[in-house]
Amino acid sequence: DAEPGPLLTVRGVTKRFGGLTAVDGADLTVERGSITALIGPNGSGKTTLFNLITGTMPVDAGTVTFAGRRIDALPPWSRAHLGLGRTFQVTRLFRDMTVLQNVVAPLPDGRLRTMFADAVSGAEAARARDLLGIVGLADFAAQQAGALSYGQQKLVELAQVLMLEPRLILLDEPAGGVNPSLLGRITEVIRELNRAGVTFLVVEHNIPMVLDLCDPVHVFARGRPIASGPPEAIRADPVVLDAYLGE
Ligand code: ADP
Repeated sequence: DAEPGPLLTVRGVTKRFGGLTAVDGADLTVERGSITALIGPNGSGKTTLFNLITGTMPVDAGTVTFAGRRIDALPPWSRAHLGLGRTFQVTRLFRDMTVLQNVVAPLPDGRLRTMFADAVSGAEAARARDLLGIVGLADFAAQQAGALSYGQQKLVELAQVLMLEPRLILLDEPAGGVNPSLLGRITEVIRELNRAGVTFLVVEHNIPMVLDLCDPVHVFARGRPIASGPPEAIRADPVVLDAYLGE
């Protein structure tokens, strides 16, 4: 990477919904190569901040810089094209399509591939199969996505995001609603991708998982960070315990 500074920088970002300030002048940085966590109570603004970073909602104030470039005025697909990927709290797969078709569905211009109009090249199909192998679902390529378990669907969604070769992936509750038997796999896949060069920003309520996987950990409350640090420090921080862990 040639450009200096953190991979992602959020400065003074604010988002209001009517009289409610969901994100309140928030600052956040994500360093290259990190698995950074964003935790905090329900309603503290984490998902809204994700939406502001990926561009599905406009900011009211503040700046978002990714890989050395201001991105806060760009449309979501354009941010994705620069290497910013995300998954959703509730997976958004096409349940009636196959797993492989889901992985190749997003086109780089932000459209979704319609299976009849937009042909899948051999190279794309091969890459999709490779990615399904990475997330441990190579044997499921021809199955209907809706037939998979919820945790498996989250892994398919991750493979789908990887098709666009992101440098940073925002994961919205990767462990949420997932069968405990798949949690270890999800953690391992994130670690493996991270070793291969992908940076992560993770919103997650499973605190043991966060403290095991992520460094640093940023704690949000009422729309802004109240504490940040390595997991050992966060675990013992009285401000955090009071605002969140002890709730
Ligand atoms: P978290 O992800 O930390 O649970 P959210 O970002 O989902 O928090 O929500 C922060 C606050 O903003 C909450 O009070 C929520 O009700 C409100 N909010 C989120 N999205 C919208 C929206 N589209 N319209 C109105 N209020 C919203």
